[in-house]
Amino acid sequence: MEDVIALLPDHVANQIAAGEVVQRPASVVKELLENAIDAKASRIQLIVKEAGKQLIQVVDNGLGMSATDARLAFERHATSKIKQSDDLFALHTKGFRGEALASIAAVAQVEMHTKRAVDELATKIKIAGGEIKEQELLVALEGTAMSVSNLFFNVPARRNFLKSNAVELRHIIDEFHRVAIAHPELSFSMVHGGSELFDLPAGKLKQRLVHIFGNKIEDKLVPVEENTSVSAINGFVLKPEAAKRSRGMQFFFVNRRFVKSSFLHHAICTAFEGLLNDGSYPGYFLFFDLAPDSIDINIHPTKTEVKFENEQSLFAILHSAVKHSLGMFQVSPTLDFDRDSNLDVPYQQVDQSAVPPKIEVDRSFNPFSTLSAQSFSSKLSPQWESLYQEVGSTESSEINLLSGEEVEQSIGEQKIFQLMNRYVVSSTGAALLLIDQQRAHERILYEFFLANVTHANSASQQLLFPLEIPLTALQLVLFEAYQSLLVSVGFHLGEQKGSTVEVLGIPSVCSENMAVKVFEDLFSAIENDQPQDTFTQTDVMVKSLAKTLSIKRGKALIIEEQQQLINDLFACKEAQLSPFNRQIFVSLTKEELEKKFS
Ligand code: ADP
Ligand code: MG
Repeated sequence: MEDVIALLPDHVANQIAAGEVVQRPASVVKELLENAIDAKASRIQLIVKEAGKQLIQVVDNGLGMSATDARLAFERHATSKIKQSDDLFALHTKGFRGEALASIAAVAQVEMHTKRAVDELATKIKIAGGEIKEQELLVALEGTAMSVSNLFFNVPARRNFLKSNAVELRHIIDEFHRVAIAHPELSFSMVHGGSELFDLPAGKLKQRLVHIFGNKIEDKLVPVEENTSVSAINGFVLKPEAAKRSRGMQFFFVNRRFVKSSFLHHAICTAFEGLLNDGSYPGYFLFFDLAPDSIDINIHPTKTEVKFENEQSLFAILHSAVKHSLGMFQVSPTLDFDRDSNLDVPYQQVDQSAVPPKIEVDRSFNPFSTLSAQSFSSKLSPQWESLYQEVGSTESSEINLLSGEEVEQSIGEQKIFQLMNRYVVSSTGAALLLIDQQRAHERILYEFFLANVTHANSASQQLLFPLEIPLTALQLVLFEAYQSLLVSVGFHLGEQKGSTVEVLGIPSVCSENMAVKVFEDLFSAIENDQPQDTFTQTDVMVKSLAKTLSIKRGKALIIEEQQQLINDLFACKEAQLSPFNRQIFVSLTKEELEKKFS
């Protein structure tokens, strides 16, 4: 019998190995960005087309390569970063395996231009499916420009496996964020399909976070700093009220390398204990500096998992550092109806005598003399639908006196009135209910829209003047993914002209002047939450609509609206909690009242 074993040709071996390193466009982005950082670049540009399926280009102003190195770089196990196995334990670079470029070149068409400071001319190399197609000299700036086109062009099965542009772009942006947050001292930019998504000047960590996540994040950052003999920790945690119910704002870096560690995540969660609502995750941007020989980043090919030498002490240090910061910056628990409110009194005030609150009351007001024609007419033709339209909240007097109607109503079975333009108070049978109007309405709208999506029977109203909403490049991609969901809740979408979408109709419960805000809020919710499957996409959209369109605190409600709110709330599947998991009402039963007066 003949021998049957043969060595695989290099390009086949590389293609197989590529499966480990290159899972999707975002993996290429990560490797190229890291190479640019390892090459000591100070300015790094990322250019992407079609969510990386068509093009991923990284341009850096780093050290560049000689002509020989340029060619060698694409060989497997070709690296300038380690020479012997001992070096593995003293790593100060991102890369070290020497297989990224070989893997990428095995499954894409790559063109590289690179030039060192000492060289007159740059080297250009074209390589596709692992084969060098062209190498020549050209004039170019110092640094390296790497273009990766048509990823998986020669592996159709993997190309077909790629997700929608919205999902792939989201992964790319995640990788970009991780690298950009790890290196605020470098400047980064990202362009997708011709539009600039990020332009991040070099600066401090805080500025970097503001540039990425917007100004609003600044007030929510609580600094964390702790230096011990085992490790140095610094960075920020987000205040508990900024915690999200989805993951996404969790960033750990070990020696400036983004890592995932459920174990360290747990250490932070326990430090936040009692400060978060159930099911929400704390946000953090934390940097560990550890001796390179006390960690092992070698256990995962894409290197996001680490093994620590002294896990237990790291856990303890992290836990106490975060707890300390939360305490220092007086991040107190959010008010919760279930809590004993005595606990919320700041300690230094416990011994001070109470000052009665000042309430301004119009003493000349006689509730029984104001049954105006206007309130009669509104009583005769109740404007139920006004309940679903936010007409702009008015922060008026703190305490609402009962209006004539309310007084009249209270003579009947159920007594209802509004308190502080914020709570609807009702007594039913043997209990007193205090309902937070905004949370109640969020719940009502949430279930209303959810039912519409599920049963696809949404009432839509045509707009007299169609709206034109300009979208950013990222929003356009997200929009694609959300189009059918938007239609299912009652949006009627017209043509898309360039980066502007036309809205012809809106859900009938949405007033026209809220239409633009609905879109703004929706996009910021999607951008923050990054939902990936249809179920969570629906949830995020419906929550956002409910929040934007809900009756706000501070809005005076007429009695019919109050009654309708109560009826609608208790027709909901879940009347206790708002879609954001907040308590909607407190009740006081007869027994509880009796106890208080015993
Ligand atoms: P690794 O980063 O693990 O060493 P890569 O395949 O990513 O392996 O890169 C191979 C080699 O090519 C690197 O070790 C480095 O010497 C060189 N190289 C890659 N990208 C760049 C770049 N942008 N600038 C300068 N040199 C680079
Ligand atoms: Mg590398």
